[in-house]
Amino acid sequence: MTALATDREPALLSALGPAAQLALLARALHRAGYDDHTAGHITYAVGDGTLLVNPFELYWEELTASDIVHIDAVGRKLAGRHTVTPAIELHLAIHRLREDVRIAVHNHPEYATVWAALHEIPPIYDQVAATIPDSSITVYNEYEGVVSSAAIAARNIESMDTDKTAAFLANHGVLVFAKNFAHAYLSCSALERRSKLAWQVHALGQGLGRPMDPVVARQYGERMAAREDPWPHLWAAVMRREVRLDPSVLD
Ligand SMILES: [Zn+2]
Repeated sequence: MTALATDREPALLSALGPAAQLALLARALHRAGYDDHTAGHITYAVGDGTLLVNPFELYWEELTASDIVHIDAVGRKLAGRHTVTPAIELHLAIHRLREDVRIAVHNHPEYATVWAALHEIPPIYDQVAATIPDSSITVYNEYEGVVSSAAIAARNIESMDTDKTAAFLANHGVLVFAKNFAHAYLSCSALERRSKLAWQVHALGQGLGRPMDPVVARQYGERMAAREDPWPHLWAAVMRREVRLDPSVLD
């Protein structure tokens, strides 16, 4: 597998299995700010009612393909040498209720968590920030502690609008939903970049920032959402970078 480290053919990397791509996504997102110690979960719906998930006890930056755990629809381990986090209930509920969500990501990235603390969605100040349209983001402000019970998780999800791509969890972090790995990487990284840019603009002084034209921003986001590969070739480039940095990610 390590031959892929120098292989620049995107099709070969795209043919990697979901466990390998989940490990690559975790490492790439850790680099993009999804790095709160060992917190956070990435789930992937296999399509048969089962899920793949990152293990409880490892940093996202050290994950390899064989570390990924296979679980059933209620979170029981089917295969894998590591532990499944007890805080998986929210993800189980998401995948039960939304077939369009192939990948769900949760973590506490530094800048997005600033906006989660404000219970606000950061304004759009550049093109990348427009990746997820405002209409596809929500603030969920009924945080009830660690989501470890099925009942609380189901109530949380049902109270969210069901067509959203991302949610700021008040005083907690973010949830991002995606239809494939390319969308998951772009949405997550763009959300954190948007949060950082808005924080920086607002640090210059109240009212100095000029957000993008909302119509232009919405059209940009809708165009990205409609594509299978939203930022063409980006996910392949991200995978190449991670494999180049540490080929053992594919082990
Ligand atoms: Zn959390």
